[in-house]
Amino acid sequence: MRGLSKRAAAFISAEGRKGEGRGRPMSAVRLMVPTHLSACGHLPAPWQGGAQAGRLGPKGVPLREALLGGRSFETPELPPIDNPGVRAYIFSAQKGQASMVIDCHSHLVPKSWYDSKSPQAIFNIEGLLEEQEKAGVDITVFGNNWIRNPEGKDSLEIMKEFNVFAAEATAKYPKHLVGLVSSIPFADDRILKETKRAISDYKLKGIMVNSSVNGEYLDSPRATPFFELVTELDVPLFIHPPRVTIGAEKMEIFRLPEMVGRPFDTTLSLTRFIFAGGLEKFPNLNLICAHVGGALPLLPGRLDFGYELRKDMSFGPWEPDVMTRPPSSYIRQLYFDTVSLHPPAVLCAVQTVGADHVLFGSDFPPVPIPLKRSLEAVTSVSLSSEEKEKILGGNAARLLGLSG
Ligand SMILES: [Zn+2]
Repeated sequence: MRGLSKRAAAFISAEGRKGEGRGRPMSAVRLMVPTHLSACGHLPAPWQGGAQAGRLGPKGVPLREALLGGRSFETPELPPIDNPGVRAYIFSAQKGQASMVIDCHSHLVPKSWYDSKSPQAIFNIEGLLEEQEKAGVDITVFGNNWIRNPEGKDSLEIMKEFNVFAAEATAKYPKHLVGLVSSIPFADDRILKETKRAISDYKLKGIMVNSSVNGEYLDSPRATPFFELVTELDVPLFIHPPRVTIGAEKMEIFRLPEMVGRPFDTTLSLTRFIFAGGLEKFPNLNLICAHVGGALPLLPGRLDFGYELRKDMSFGPWEPDVMTRPPSSYIRQLYFDTVSLHPPAVLCAVQTVGADHVLFGSDFPPVPIPLKRSLEAVTSVSLSSEEKEKILGGNAARLLGLSG
C-alpha cells in the first residue's frame, strides 16, 4: 500500500526523533489507511480495539469510519510505541512484505503497437499508475497474452519487441511495474533462446504464455524443451488463455470467447498437462493460472473419481496412465489468480489450493473495471487477515522474488 508505506516510514522517523520516547504515546502522527486495509484487519490489535470503541478517530469522526473511508487524518492518541502490535506493524511495513499489494494479472503493450480498435488502457502506463494510487495497489505484474498483437510481424519479432518494452517499463517504474517475458511453449530454438536471453539480460522475474496456440495444448510433446527451460530458469510461469480458445466455433455470439472460452481453455490445458504427467516430469514448476484457474477449483473431486475408476474400461480408455497420485494433489501445486469479480470463486480457490497458492489479480488493463472492485473480490471473502495478506501481495512477492 503505497500510502501506508510512506506513513509508516513517517511513523518510524517520529520514533527516532523521540528516541527516549519509547514506551510513551506518540503524538499527532498522520496516518493514511487505504480502505481495504481495514477490511483486511491489518491494523495492530490495540488500534482495532480503539477503532471499535470509536476512541482513536480524528476529531468528530470515529476511527472506524475514517478507516473505512480510506481517509487521511491525524490522531493524538496513538498507542505506546513499544506496544507489540505496533512494532509488528512497523516491521511489516519496513520489510515491504505484509503490507504490499501486488496485482499479478494485467496487460500493457508497447505504444508502437497502437491500434485504435484496442482497449486504450493497454498503451497507457500513466493511467495504470493513477489507478494503482487510487486503489492502494503497489505493484502491477503485466505480460503479453497474444490477444492484441500487431499484424504482419512474426512471433519472434513480437516477443522481442514485447520483452524490450517489459524490461524498459520495469526499469522505469521499478516500484510499480513488473514485466513478464513473453514466450511460446511450442517453439523452435530461436524462441527458447530469446526467452532465456530476456530473463538473464533483463532480469525479468517470470514468463507469460498462452494455454494453447492454434489448438495445441500444454501436454504437447513439443512443449517439453520449453518446460525444461522454465525449470532451469526457475521463474514462475503465468498461463493465460489465448484469443482463439477451445469451442471457438460455438462462441461467435456476444463475447463468449472472453467470458467462457478463456476459462474453458485454461481448464482444458492444465487438465491435459497434469493427466499427461506434466507435473510428474516437471514437479518444480510454479504455474500461475489465469481467471481463478477456470473451472479447476470446482473439479478436483470429479477428476479424482475419474482417476479412481481409471482401470474400469466400461467407462472408456485411460492412457497413458502416468499419474502416481490423484489429480487433486497436482492441482494443489498450481497457483490461481483471483480474476473473477466473484468472491465465492475466490473462496473456492483458497479452499482448493490453500491461501498460499492464490494471488490477487485484476486483468486491468485491459479490463476497465476499477481495481477497487477487484480488490473487494478478495477483501470481502471470509478469510483471516493473514490469508488476505498472502493473497493480496505476500504470495506474489515470494514467487517473483520481490520481497528482498
Ligand atoms: Zn488477462
